[in-house]
Amino acid sequence: MTDQDRLIEMIMDEFKGLARHPRPSHHEKAVSDYLVNRLHALGVTDVIQDDVYNVIANVPATAGYEKAPLTLIQGHMDMVCVAKPGYPFDPLTSEIKLIREGNILHADHTSLGADDGAGVASALILLQLGVEHGPLRIIFTTDEETSMTGATHLDSRYIQDLDYIINVDSEELDVICMGSAGSCHTRFTRIINWGETADTMALHLQTHGFRGGHSGATIHQGKGNAIQAMAEALLDLRNAGIDYRLSSINGGDASNAIPADCDAIIVISPDNEGKVREVLHAWSEKFHRMFHGIEDQAELLIQPDEVPQRVFSASDTEMLVDLLCMLHSGIYVMNQTYANLPELSANIGTIQTTEEAVSFEYLPRSGEDDRLQELLQKLPLFAKLTGFAYEQGNAEPAWTVNTESKLAPIYEKAFEKITGRKPRTEAIHGGLETGRFYHLNPSADIISVGPNTHAIHSADESVELDSIAIMIQVIAETLKALK
Ligand SMILES: [Zn+2]
Repeated sequence: MTDQDRLIEMIMDEFKGLARHPRPSHHEKAVSDYLVNRLHALGVTDVIQDDVYNVIANVPATAGYEKAPLTLIQGHMDMVCVAKPGYPFDPLTSEIKLIREGNILHADHTSLGADDGAGVASALILLQLGVEHGPLRIIFTTDEETSMTGATHLDSRYIQDLDYIINVDSEELDVICMGSAGSCHTRFTRIINWGETADTMALHLQTHGFRGGHSGATIHQGKGNAIQAMAEALLDLRNAGIDYRLSSINGGDASNAIPADCDAIIVISPDNEGKVREVLHAWSEKFHRMFHGIEDQAELLIQPDEVPQRVFSASDTEMLVDLLCMLHSGIYVMNQTYANLPELSANIGTIQTTEEAVSFEYLPRSGEDDRLQELLQKLPLFAKLTGFAYEQGNAEPAWTVNTESKLAPIYEKAFEKITGRKPRTEAIHGGLETGRFYHLNPSADIISVGPNTHAIHSADESVELDSIAIMIQVIAETLKALK
């Protein structure tokens, strides 16, 4: 048996252990207890389970490494549990059934949990390999996949004394992730002054078929935003001197998704129908020139609709369109270290009309906390100008790229030694637990790595077993070099 084969057997064993403990986010007690026992079984005596079920273990240095820097190896124990339609699967009680096909590991009709079982398994296996290392801390967090409860509630003292952090929750073997974005949920709401209108024609407008996508991963691709596009079309109507009132506007699925659809009902005078269609047609042509090759499937549909009982006041209609047009949706600034990496962006994600109010979500992200705060402090000004109420959640901190990292070149060298090729360094515009760690300890030198996983968060999730084995070898080599 080669080293690689032996490692893959060990990986399979750890995955089997994890698979027996259902671990959707917010239901981690069982897997947390299992991990405490597993660490004890591997001879680790200093193991702590905190009140949100994070598991924290301290592992003493091997002989000769007592003075080496303190290094954290960290992953999250929860997983996204999904099954194929019709497959009987209860995420709270069902085991994950593993299926190995050569080098590929996947589950039977469900997600696998390689995200982040691979990270957890790697840390456990490193303890079994007899590799040389300095003082180590191992942390398995909870609820990374929904609200990062584990990382947020983790006692800061487990982070503040660290020199190096290796987060094992990335998705590509050849990539060293060097940074992630912070973000903040915000909401703009305006109480509607409902009124009547003498106009007798209603049109249902739909911005439809936009590409959409994750606002962290794809905001730099220059896509259209179906909600903002609707507002821009409505602005063109106003600028053409056409009087109209909104009676509803709804669109988008989530604050962190670029909306693909938006529906609005407007009421106009029947005399203006021809002109409305003409202006909206011109708007569509302009849109397709601007988004040529990007949003070729997007369209603005116009259909007659039942005339609603009541409509927004003229000023509600005007102020909503103003605000949706004024708030930039897309990239504000690009990062200057990494190509295609946004530094500051924002997304209008959803909009709803209720009985009382119209409200929408706006989600700014940044790779640097001050930049995020700079934008956030301007948002209430837009709200004030347009008569909207503004609410803001807690900002998730960024993990800002450290161009002076000592850890990244050491990992790079170890990677080259094991694989014979150079890894790439990248940073992402999404959020990671490392943002929390960086916030608690900005002097910690952090990288995030991972094996080759595919279709994570879906029932087609899979992982390349040899890529986990290689990653473990590279981390082992890195620990040896951190002296
Ligand atoms: Zn993950």
